[in-house]
Amino acid sequence: MPPPGLSKRSAGREVEPRTQRPRMNTTSTSGNASSTPTDAAGDYHRQRLADGATCLAKALDYLRRGWSVLSLCPPDHCGVGLVSRRHGKTCKSPGKRPWHTWKEFEERLPTVAEVLDWWRQLPTSNVGLALGPVSGAVRVDVEGLAARQQLEEISGGDLPVTPEFRSGRADGTGRGILWQIPPGVVFRTTPIAFQDGELRFQAKGAQTALPPSRHKDGGLYEWLPGRSPDDVPLAPAPDWAVRRWSVGAEGQRRPRPKVSSTRTEAAASRVVVLALTALSHLNPERSTAYDPWLRTGMALHAVDPSEGMLIIWDQWSKQAEGKYQPGDCEAKWATFSADGGLGLGDLLRWARLDSDWVPARIVRQRGGRIVVRVPCRQGTAGGASA
Ligand SMILES: [Zn+2]
Repeated sequence: MPPPGLSKRSAGREVEPRTQRPRMNTTSTSGNASSTPTDAAGDYHRQRLADGATCLAKALDYLRRGWSVLSLCPPDHCGVGLVSRRHGKTCKSPGKRPWHTWKEFEERLPTVAEVLDWWRQLPTSNVGLALGPVSGAVRVDVEGLAARQQLEEISGGDLPVTPEFRSGRADGTGRGILWQIPPGVVFRTTPIAFQDGELRFQAKGAQTALPPSRHKDGGLYEWLPGRSPDDVPLAPAPDWAVRRWSVGAEGQRRPRPKVSSTRTEAAASRVVVLALTALSHLNPERSTAYDPWLRTGMALHAVDPSEGMLIIWDQWSKQAEGKYQPGDCEAKWATFSADGGLGLGDLLRWARLDSDWVPARIVRQRGGRIVVRVPCRQGTAGGASA
């Protein structure tokens, strides 16, 4: 059976990805101590799928913040030629470029359905961000000591606390600093990063990979401690940066990008993100035995009965080599009811039993219906309702 994202047509011949595989630690959650070459290949694919699932979860989270997210090619380019022949032939930056057309996402946010469809087509995608007014964000790219020194000099130390990440480069020097575009400010359009001495500045026309994407060197893009968008909001670009890189004030407030989500949708999206993160931490063996497989589907259905979630359950089920049958998930999905007794709390509990993962925070929607209390490891206390 081909791994998800590869068609049967290609499964036989595309044994090796087009580019070198990222060097990454594949920690198997199956508990197998011995490792044969076949296990290693399976571990690699499971790790790539887990990477893709966490990128999808974060993409939905970033979208909820009003960021125009993009689906970037996987760092090993495996399967990319099947979703975009042109990309497969022309891309020279594996892991960093959108594999789908993305011009329109400089102007509007993708829908949740569009994001889910990208990962359905290529489940191992990295996650990216279209910069500029659509996301309200610009990026300064700082790579190496000389760039950091230049930043210190031209800023005069005026560097507000704002989300900042480390790229997965092997030498550990890559940094991405995100700033909010101040009202009325128009930054230079930069189809490629605008090089200013040792610094690179990116605004409308450019995009960037975001955590938790995988770099082709093998590392993960990571938010610096205390600098994720959960920790700090985007700080407005400081005055010196506006003077240096903007084309002048328009004298008008920039139009707020339209966020299609209502409050309710945003809350629901948060629950979906939590469910998908939990799913990526489940022991793959849950997909091979009938009851755990079915119960996982029922819990996902309770979280979100949409076709998008069905696609995700179907993708997850494909890791059960020899057991997966196309159409099985769809047939079962149609029989699930809203009061099946399983839900997000069960997914969280199973994920905590299967892995070291602990949900980052308790989710409470003040005045809303959704309250999630993280269950304890034995699953005897707490629960969730949505
Ligand atoms: Zn590529």
